[in-house]
Amino acid sequence: MLNLIIFGPPGSGKGTQSLKLAEKYKLVHISTGDIFRSEIRNKTELGLKVQSIIERGELVPDELLKDILRTALKKHPKAEGFLFDGFPRTIHQAEDLDSLMNEMDSGIDKVIALEVDDKEVVNRLLKRAEIEGRKDDTEDVIRNRLSVYQKQTTPLLEFYNNKGILGRVNGIGSIDGIFEAICRIV
Ligand code: AMP
Repeated sequence: MLNLIIFGPPGSGKGTQSLKLAEKYKLVHISTGDIFRSEIRNKTELGLKVQSIIERGELVPDELLKDILRTALKKHPKAEGFLFDGFPRTIHQAEDLDSLMNEMDSGIDKVIALEVDDKEVVNRLLKRAEIEGRKDDTEDVIRNRLSVYQKQTTPLLEFYNNKGILGRVNGIGSIDGIFEAICRIV
């Protein structure tokens, strides 16, 4: 199995790079943001519970994530590997992921951190807002998501760096150039 995590602030291009990575390495792409957006669209109990949290740009509570992940992993018993996009976002979630991976006799092989400065991501997200109309792409919410990322998610980079599996990639440049840099790390 090959299991990867891709990190980056909102607007760093992790969604785009994830699709390319999943295709190249035949990985099942698990985006918790996509899972939540689909639950909200379908007005499920979970969707209704998380909708306002997501619209404010806050994080969904850790307790909910472990079950969601377990369900997502179980759907793919024959997977050759997984690519986690937007998960984990807190140390607690990273520990949950370790234990879920252990249950599968597997582990995380590599963690990729896409680095893009705040000014660039705000510009990119405001452009995306015009095209996709995501409710969490307004300027105030974008700034909140960035500060949540800084506070709650960047400590994870240290966590994975200490395990010796973190690779950093400059997230500014052409899509293909960034993809090549990621592949070299993988
Ligand atoms: P994303 O598409 O990854 O930017 O996720 C969109 C939103 O979904 C985030 O701003 C959070 O509100 C929520 N979300 C997605 N993944 C997680 C996670 N692992 N933990 C907590 N909240 C999450």
